[in-house]
Amino acid sequence: MNSCVDDATSNDADSDVMAQGRKVLHIDCDCFFAAVEMREQPHLKDKPIAIGGESDRRGVIATCNYPARQYGVRSAMATANARRLCPDLILLKGRMALYSQVSAQLMEILRDFSPLIEQVSVDEAYLELQPEQQASEVAREIRERVRNELGITVSVGGAPNKFLAKVASDWNKPDGQKMIPPERVDEFVRVLPVGKISGVGPAFQGRLKAVGIETCGDARGWDLKELVRRFGRSGVLIYQRCRGQDNRVLSMERIRKSVSVERTYAKDLQRQDECLAEIPALYERWQERIARTPWQAEALAPFVKVKFDDFTQTTLADVTELATPEGFGRLLMQALQREDKPVRLLGIGGRFPQVSEQQLSLF
Ligand SMILES: [Mg+2]
Repeated sequence: MNSCVDDATSNDADSDVMAQGRKVLHIDCDCFFAAVEMREQPHLKDKPIAIGGESDRRGVIATCNYPARQYGVRSAMATANARRLCPDLILLKGRMALYSQVSAQLMEILRDFSPLIEQVSVDEAYLELQPEQQASEVAREIRERVRNELGITVSVGGAPNKFLAKVASDWNKPDGQKMIPPERVDEFVRVLPVGKISGVGPAFQGRLKAVGIETCGDARGWDLKELVRRFGRSGVLIYQRCRGQDNRVLSMERIRKSVSVERTYAKDLQRQDECLAEIPALYERWQERIARTPWQAEALAPFVKVKFDDFTQTTLADVTELATPEGFGRLLMQALQREDKPVRLLGIGGRFPQVSEQQLSLF
C-alpha cells in the first residue's frame, strides 16, 4: 500500500470535517467483466481469465482478473500479446447483456444512498452525499451490499471533489476504500505524481517532467500565468488540480429528474394480482429514497414501469394520479392491460416538478 495518509485516522475524521464541504464518492468495480464471469463460473476464480476478442481476429483484452494481471496481462492489450505473456490464459467472449444487467443492479444499489448520481461508464459512478451522511460509513455499506447482492466487489474513494474521489478509489484497489477528508487534501496532493491527474497522459507528463514537474508539489512553485503561457488551457488544469481543486459538479444531464425503484423477479409474475401484491414493498423502498430528497412524495408525478418476459417494456405516467400505493396500483393495472405477458420487472417512480439546476444543486 503506497498510502501517504493514515487510513484509519482519515476515516474517523471524515464525518466532522467533510461536513464543511462537499462529499463525493467514486465507485469503481474491480475488473468488472471478469468479476461477473467468476461469479457465474466459480471454477474459474483462481485461473487467469480475460474477456476479449480472439487473437486470430486481432482482438484486444477488455478486462482480465487479478491472476491474469500477475502475468502482466492488461486491459487494451492485444490478445496475441496477452497469450504470449500467459499461455494458460482462458479467453472468454463478453456477454454484454449480462454485464449491463449487473451494471443496472449496481446503479440501483447506489441510488439507495443518494439521488445525485453520475454514471460514468458501465462499472463506474460518482455519488454526491448529503452533509449529514458519513462518507466512510456509506462506502462500507455500498461495498457490503454489492458483495452480498451482486457477488462482485467495488472500490470506493471519498473526497471533497470528483478529481480526488477518483484518485482515492484507485488507492486501495481491489475491494478497498480510501477517504481524503478536506484537512488531508493538501498533504495528499503535494506528493501525488501529476500522471494521476486525469487529462495528463504520458506525452503531457513528459513535457511537464522536462521543466521539472513530476509531482503536484513541484507544480505549485509555478504561478498560473507561467503555466498557461507554457501549456495553454491545460496549465489551468494543472494549477487547480495540484492544489486539490476541482469545481466540477456531477454531470447535470445525467442526474435524474426522477426517483424510482425497480425489481427484477427471479420467477416471472404471471397474474395481475401477483403484480399488485408487489406494490407495497416497492413503495416502501421508494419512500426511503424520497426521504433523501427535498420533496414530498405527494408532490411528484407518479409513473410505473413494466418489463415483460420477452424484454419489451412499457412505462405509464399520469400527472393527475397521486403517488400513493393506491395510485401506483391503478397505474399498474392500466399498464398491464397493454400486454398479456408474464412480467419480469416492476418499477415505480415519481418525476420531480420542473426544477432548475440551481434548485437541484441544493440537495
Ligand atoms: Mg472498473
